[in-house]
Amino acid sequence: MSSAEPMVSGWKMRHHSISLAKEHIRTTLGSLAEWYVLFGNCYACEHIGMIDRWELQRRLGRDTRIKALEVRLVCTKCGNRDHNGFCIAKQKR
Ligand SMILES: [Zn+2]
Repeated sequence: MSSAEPMVSGWKMRHHSISLAKEHIRTTLGSLAEWYVLFGNCYACEHIGMIDRWELQRRLGRDTRIKALEVRLVCTKCGNRDHNGFCIAKQKR
């Protein structure tokens, strides 16, 4: 996996389209509809970075709960590993 995860500039301007992963506490990678994209949200610097959910699914399996992966998030901007969370957004098609 590439270490350079794409940064999402200006994403906060469209914050209303993001739902917090708390609503998806039982959702697994495989059960999340394909038009959703995942973002990691840094607790320390509020950086939001896009996450390749298909890559995650290939590596960890489709039965992995998204919520369980939060502790594994590392901010690509400041390196923070604590209290990071997922955001889930609908991708425009
Ligand atoms: Zn950060």
